[in-house]
Amino acid sequence: MSGQRVGIMGGTFDPVHYGHLVTAEAAREWYGLQEVVFVPSGHPPHKTAGTVSDFWSRYQMAVLATATNPFFEVSRMEYERGGHSYTVDTVRAFRQLYGDGTELFFVTGADAILEIIEWKQPEELLAMCRFIAATRPGYDLRQLNALLGEYFSGSVSILEIPAPSISSSDIRERVRRGASIKYLVPEAVEAYIIKNRLYSG
Ligand code: ATP
Ligand code: MG
Repeated sequence: MSGQRVGIMGGTFDPVHYGHLVTAEAAREWYGLQEVVFVPSGHPPHKTAGTVSDFWSRYQMAVLATATNPFFEVSRMEYERGGHSYTVDTVRAFRQLYGDGTELFFVTGADAILEIIEWKQPEELLAMCRFIAATRPGYDLRQLNALLGEYFSGSVSILEIPAPSISSSDIRERVRRGASIKYLVPEAVEAYIIKNRLYSG
């Protein structure tokens, strides 16, 4: 399909939370995306194996969390590809899947964008898609711009979102100590965590 705009939301999603969902929805609205695809990582290269929940738990929580949004989808691509998940490989696969008529937008948090410098082949990546960097509360935009420099700033759009300051690590820590995670994740995700005894050690 041509003239399409598709968002790619990559992440570990261990677990998916309202910060991710608000960010994806804001990106969809602001950039007129026809679809936002959540892509849970298969084997995260930056996170130590064993400390991340298995793919299927993270995938199922993402499916539960996105079920009520007709514009959101979840992909098993990184799991099915196996091995390390590099963003450039995922974006390349999307490029092949959707063809050249589709504009691709990789949606990340402002903290994660800085890791592109460590990602494999940033030049190829930036040629294939635009980046939408959502600022998390308390994030210093001047710092981001300085770090991106002239080279990267042309391909990166900053999106200020009213996302609450939620992180998956904080949610895991709360579950571990028996604290409430209500209103931080969708109810179905909270129920899934409890039912499957995730993060409780
Ligand atoms: P962890 O604490 O385990 O690192 P996380 O909350 O950062 O988890 P990830 O799965 O690592 O979640 O993040 C996926 C993407 O969502 C990243 O691009 C990250 O920057 C972004 N993101 C995470 N939390 C928020 C938030 N509250 N607001 C905006 N973007 C977010
Ligand atoms: Mg993170």
